[in-house]
Amino acid sequence: MKWKNRRKSSNVNRGSGAPIVFGGGIGGLILVLVLYFLGADPSVINNQNIDQGQNSQYEEKISEGQKELEDFLSVVLADTEDMWHEKFSEYNLTYNEPNMTLYTGSTKSACGVAQSGMGPFYCPLDQAVYIDVSFYDELKNTFGAGGDFAFAYVLAHEVGHHVQNELGILDQTQELQKKLSEREYNKYSVAQELQADYFAGVYAYYSKEKGYLEAGDIEEAMRAASSIGDDKIQKMSGSNINPDKFTHGSSKDRKNAFDMGYKYHDIEHSMDFYKNLEYKIQI
Ligand SMILES: [Zn+2]
Repeated sequence: MKWKNRRKSSNVNRGSGAPIVFGGGIGGLILVLVLYFLGADPSVINNQNIDQGQNSQYEEKISEGQKELEDFLSVVLADTEDMWHEKFSEYNLTYNEPNMTLYTGSTKSACGVAQSGMGPFYCPLDQAVYIDVSFYDELKNTFGAGGDFAFAYVLAHEVGHHVQNELGILDQTQELQKKLSEREYNKYSVAQELQADYFAGVYAYYSKEKGYLEAGDIEEAMRAASSIGDDKIQKMSGSNINPDKFTHGSSKDRKNAFDMGYKYHDIEHSMDFYKNLEYKIQI
């Protein structure tokens, strides 16, 4: 992706995020429900207290390569801001930009303590995307999806959850989560995740139109989308493939959702993921 010497977002924080709204204990349990992950949920979210002064720690830990990744993600975030401002204005809506916190090790979010190993996520309570920059290596080495645009897809997916928040979709699905069984709710979770993948496809189309893409970029994003499907992750963790337990969609569905976003690049078609579900989700 062509990203050097382009605008970087000013909504980027390093190391420590917004103040914690909830403490540990029960708060920690509630929080699991409101985080939006990139792939299968981590089994444990640790809500313990962490060291202060993370900013200086962060500076020490960060390598040259990570600094470049930070700059890269800041440019991608800026692109998503420009794009979503445009899209929202088509619907006479105002887009409020999310924040992005980049960290290594762990940091605080309004949804609890963010730790590497959790993977990138979106916290609706402070409207921020949390990314451990070392996830870039994990994406490449563990999931076999390297390349800069694979990481751009990851951020565009998380920003997609913010867009859902802005459109009131997260509120509606959280209400349903209270009354549905886990198995029933998982269908809404999958629809929501596929919509976020769709939004990442919309971003890919936007980047292409702007002339930012290089050869192989779209393939990198598609490889990333299909590398983190629930079926693949269940298989990697040694479990049997069980679609009832899917929360993000199969590899095939995730790649298709990205393709659809690239093809239609609008908000209307993204609502198709909810259309066969019992309760209506509206924007
Ligand atoms: Zn997600």
